Amino acid sequence: MTTKEETNFVERLGVEMVYERRPDELHTVLKQGFDIETPRYKRSNYASELTGCKRKRYWDWTDEPCEDTFDDKSRIVMASGEAWEDLILKFFKGARVYKGTQIRLDIPELRIGGNIDAIIVTPGGKLIPVEIKSTSDMSYKSKYLYSCPECNGEAKWNSRNCKNCNKMIPGPVKKLLWYGKSEVPDSSHYAQLQAYIQGTKFIWRNPVTGELQTEFDEGRLLVVNRGFRVMDDIMWYRIKKDDNFWSAVSKDVTALNTSVDNGELPNRDYDPAFNLQGVVGKSADFYCKFCPYQSQCFEAPEIQDGTEE
Ligand code: SF4
Repeated sequence: MTTKEETNFVERLGVEMVYERRPDELHTVLKQGFDIETPRYKRSNYASELTGCKRKRYWDWTDEPCEDTFDDKSRIVMASGEAWEDLILKFFKGARVYKGTQIRLDIPELRIGGNIDAIIVTPGGKLIPVEIKSTSDMSYKSKYLYSCPECNGEAKWNSRNCKNCNKMIPGPVKKLLWYGKSEVPDSSHYAQLQAYIQGTKFIWRNPVTGELQTEFDEGRLLVVNRGFRVMDDIMWYRIKKDDNFWSAVSKDVTALNTSVDNGELPNRDYDPAFNLQGVVGKSADFYCKFCPYQSQCFEAPEIQDGTEE
């Protein structure tokens, strides 16, 4: 009904609607749902953080007091991520490929732990792990694939005009994924999948081939745009077992574990671009902008060749 129709309807009934807008009441109730304190304990290197800053992870391990960087907005983003995960699991169940969720991952020799979002079965009967991520709608923009017949330039992201010569590119225009999203998966997500592939042992008899499967040799990364409207808003990466990458990750994690055991604070892995007052600069790496240990990091100098920074 339009507003006019609604008014007519109420007038026809000869009554008045009694209502009050109470956003404060809703906010109070909702906030109670988001204000659950996240317990802070460290029993393992989380599979989702394997490429994060070792200095930050060191302080996570050693229980360094930190700033609560979770504001209402972050809590809502986290909650919506969980809701998206539930929706994707529902799709998997509907497609009859779902085999389980929140399977525990444990790699004791590296102290790596985590939970696999989902296990699905391929049409060939093979089990594969899936990591589900959701990303902000803010990064959503369509991109045009067709190149300019005049200069071979790419089309602008928001029009059919060429980036180089600005001429209109003729012909049908096709949208491609998200502007700013590359064809390459995020390295932290890639590392997470590698942990699932390397660290999970099980016994599964393939119902199609009859063969026994005892480990994963590949996985899938699913990244959904939270403004999901069309199937192109879901990225689906096939990620194969990568021993070289895993060996580098293992070396990095071992270095962190040694630092924790010896009580030696690692150097910074990212650049906070601190100003003289210790405020993270605009050019800082992404990780630093949301790091809860910014003040400690500013206070703790880098150690280079036995000399302080
Ligand atoms: S501010 Fe940056 S470099 Fe420092 S601990 Fe945090 S993430 Fe690491």
